[in-house]
Parts: sequence; C-alpha cells; structure tokens
Amino acid sequence: MNGATGAAVGLAYTDARGRIYFDETRAPLADGGFERPPRREELIPAPPGTVSTMLPGRMPLLAGGGTASRRTALAALLPAGYTRLLLPAYRSGPDAPPLPLFGYTFACVVDDELHVAAMRTDESEDWTPRYFGEGELEALLRARQADDPRNRTLAQLAICSRDYGCFTAQNVFLERGEAALPVSPRCNAACVGCISELEPDAGLPSPQTRVAFEADAGDLARIAIRHLERVPDGIVSFGQGCEGEPLLRVTTIERTIAAIRAERANGTINLNTNGSLPKSLARLIDAGLQAVRISLNSFRKDVYAAYYRPTGYDLDDVLESVALAVERGLRVSLNYLTHPGVTDDAAEVAAFERFLSAHPVTLVQTRTLNIDPERYFARVGRPTEPLGMREALARIEHLGIPLGNFTHTH
Ligand code: SF4
Repeated sequence: MNGATGAAVGLAYTDARGRIYFDETRAPLADGGFERPPRREELIPAPPGTVSTMLPGRMPLLAGGGTASRRTALAALLPAGYTRLLLPAYRSGPDAPPLPLFGYTFACVVDDELHVAAMRTDESEDWTPRYFGEGELEALLRARQADDPRNRTLAQLAICSRDYGCFTAQNVFLERGEAALPVSPRCNAACVGCISELEPDAGLPSPQTRVAFEADAGDLARIAIRHLERVPDGIVSFGQGCEGEPLLRVTTIERTIAAIRAERANGTINLNTNGSLPKSLARLIDAGLQAVRISLNSFRKDVYAAYYRPTGYDLDDVLESVALAVERGLRVSLNYLTHPGVTDDAAEVAAFERFLSAHPVTLVQTRTLNIDPERYFARVGRPTEPLGMREALARIEHLGIPLGNFTHTH
C-alpha cells in the first residue's frame, strides 16, 4: 500500500557500483527507531536537489522479513529546507565501512518515481544550491581580500567559501544575508558527529578542518561593519561549522559587538552556540547580542551527554542559557538535531513539551542530524515508544512555536 497515490511502495536500491534500480514487486522496510513499513503521510516525491547515495556493505530490509541480498541499500540526502522522517532500514555486512557524516533518509519507489520520507519545514530561498561561473567565486574572493589583506578571518572565510562551499562564508563575499564570523578554535564538547573535529576512532575524516587560530576582534569587526554597510537587514553570526565553541571567547566577542555598534545600528548580531556557559551568554546580551541559536540533540540529560560528551557543563547549563535568552527578549532559535527514533521517542517529546511550554522560543530549527544511524543508536540507544517524526514536530507547533531550518531576521 502506497504513500502518495495508493500505488505500491517498492524497493529502491543500488548495485555494488552505485547504479540505482527500482523493484516495485518488493516492499521495503524503513527505520523509525523500530523497523516498519513507511506510512502514507510520511512519503513525498523526492524534491529537486535530493541526492541518492548507496550504503556500501549494507543490504536493504524487506517487509515480510529477510533482506534483499546481492542488493545494496540506498538512501537519500535531502536538500535544505526539508526534515527527515525515517531512516533507511538495512543489515550491515561484516566489512561494511563507516558511513560519512550525512543525513541518511529512507527512499523508495512509487509509480516509478523516487519518493523520500521527509517534510518541507522551511521555504527560504536563500539556501538553494549556488552555481558560480568559471573563476567567478575566485575573483570575488581575491577582490575582497585585496581590500583587507591582513585580515586572517577573511582568509579563513575564503577557504570555507571555496573548499567547503559554506553559504554563510560565501555571503561575506556576495554581500547578502547571514555572514559568518568564526571566532574559536577550542570547544568544551566532543560531539560524536562534529563536522570540524572527529576522533581517530571515528574511522573517517571530519568534513571540515577546525580553524587553527583565535580570531582578532578588529578583523571580525571590519568584516561585520562592511557587511552591515552593504546589507541593511543583514545578520552577522559568531559560531560557525569550522570552529569550536564561541562562548569560550566571550571577551573577544564583547569587544567586537562594541566595535560594530560604534559604527552600525542596523542588522542583527547573532550567536550560534552550544549554550554551555549561561554567564558568558549574559555578558554578550548586556553587550548588545540580539539573537541566539542554541544547538542540542535532546532535552534528556543522558541522551545529550552521550552525543555531546561535554566537559565542565551539562544539559542543565544549556537549558539555563535558553531560558535566560527567552527571558531577556532575544530572538531565540533552537538548532534541534533531529533523528527518527530519538527525537520522536515519547520520553523525548514529553521532555521538550515540558521545557518549551515554560520557555517558548522564537523558532525551532529541525536540523537533520548528519551521522551514521547505527553509530548514533549505539551511543544514545533505540527508543521505547517512537511516536513518529510528524507527530513529534506537530507537538512542537502545537505549543505555538514555528518550525524552520534557517536563521531568519523576522
Ligand atoms: S559543539 Fe560544535 S564544535 Fe563543539 S564538538 Fe560539538 S559540533 Fe563540534
């Protein structure tokens, strides 16, 4: 029984070389913490920008039991603006290599068309894929750096723009939207899926290289002031993917905010953070911080600690930071790292309903957590009562809190 049209849900898989095939005679299982068939309302045609990927050494699971042997499991990677509802279900062979940090999403065939288990959660066009003409980006980077040749942070942002395709770094050169201000090489957490620094036992490299230097307040301020001169409703954001935890550099950020506001009154000064140090956050709010995005994978202490592996703080400090920012009237977004079977476990839903009803934030960004699902479940455990991601997200909206995927200025 199918998702979208009543037609059968069929198996989408690859061969060992990654070529994609459809078999509408076989019904696949999905993984929502428990392995089960996908439900009607969980499937949509694969949106533009979806990337299909093979899961090497892994065989897809079938409804009715067993695996599709000699076939390789397939997953979809969703474009920005969508939230994943189900994981692919598979059995890993003994030689299955670790999976890199991506948001593996259940995919299947319906009416000869690829479908995915996802829902649209943000309409912002500012994050659609970008294509630069031959040498176009390089020319932009060179011209901007020529205006400020000694700025180490600008040089870092050129690397992030070119090598990682980072949108907020490119925005500095494109003079649009949200601009990146990376500030800290150190972190007080050791996330299992950190994109800038992974442990050797992860068995794979981190997608980005952590910044190696402590940014200078003058360098940061010059970038921010120029951005707000050119982008009236622009956002300048401390705390980026290529760095550690910005709250560990509170004094530098305080000085940078003072320098920005001495020159510019427009735009939004935002901080992306793990929220670990509420006292430092309070200092930045006093200094003029206007918006904050606090990341967490769970409202349960043990699940949080199992993923973030914090040093010198715990989930209570993070939630204290959220409550403080709400109380002080900031624009507060949560960067909620979602994962089917964890985010929608009844215990998790009860925990976030309890907290968010007492401290209603401005926006919950439902970020698809990029990690090998087996590695994550091994760390945080499988659920006891998964309610389904659609239900979990509806429970957030039921509290009057909008969902999204990006930081908005209004
Ligand atoms: S808080 Fe950020 S920088 Fe620190 S370990 Fe986690 S993902 Fe990495």
